[in-house]
Amino acid sequence: MTTATLSQTRPVATIVKGMPASDGAGVRLLRLVGQPKLQMLDPFLMLDHFDSDKADDYLAGFPDHPHRGFETVTYMLDGKLGHEDNKGHKGVIGTGGVQWMTAGRGIVHSEMPLQDNGLMRGFQLWVNLPAKLKMIEPRYQEFEATQIPVEMRDGATVKVVAGNTARGTSGPVQAEQVDARYFDIALQPGATFDEPVPADHNAFLAVFEGGLNVEGRLGTVDAVSVGVLGPGERVSVTAGAKGARFLLLSGRPLGEPVAWGGPFVMNTREEVMQAFQDFNDGKF
Ligand code: FE
Repeated sequence: MTTATLSQTRPVATIVKGMPASDGAGVRLLRLVGQPKLQMLDPFLMLDHFDSDKADDYLAGFPDHPHRGFETVTYMLDGKLGHEDNKGHKGVIGTGGVQWMTAGRGIVHSEMPLQDNGLMRGFQLWVNLPAKLKMIEPRYQEFEATQIPVEMRDGATVKVVAGNTARGTSGPVQAEQVDARYFDIALQPGATFDEPVPADHNAFLAVFEGGLNVEGRLGTVDAVSVGVLGPGERVSVTAGAKGARFLLLSGRPLGEPVAWGGPFVMNTREEVMQAFQDFNDGKF
């Protein structure tokens, strides 16, 4: 019988492979969330993974474009990305660093590689904002690799970008709107990662190296793909023979209508049209 001290492990309910895509001015990437097989996982709208050592795959970058109504999170595993917006904010996201940008009412920005050779690898995540915060002033939270705590476990290292682990490690990013957790986990072959995940959060694993063994008939979640977690209170996964590296992302769903038009994510179609209007009128 189940006792009060045991909590139910969330199964992997769905596995979705990264879909090859091109974005910006022609950056080749794999779209994990925000594609036909996984349109969104409230509050997460999109997750892209870029991973190439061929300059032609990334050099074109993401020249000036607007955003309104949500947050973009860029996490660099390898390489260097320059960022500049129309409000005078300028910065560099280097290897192991993160930029958590709350676009709010709107910015126009560029995200361009600061390298013309070598490996460029990382993720961009889009996190939705609740209706009442979609038009707040833009905000940046930027941290270098050395500012992101690393929790050492048996056969595992956990980099904590946002949220808290059960063992008391806190990520530097404040993502209180949806209580987001963003962990980057490396497992040695056969090692297990076990961690509570709030039952009211949507959660998924984005495996980008090796593979994870999953209980039940689904088998393994291999790089590069997403495993969406089903109901329960904790995640427990074991790396396969090659080990594994993956993101664990979770957040409280907003449960609000989503009206998505290109770089604008609002609650109604009218608000999206207004965003296009404001952008064309130079009001960003
Ligand atoms: Fe952008």
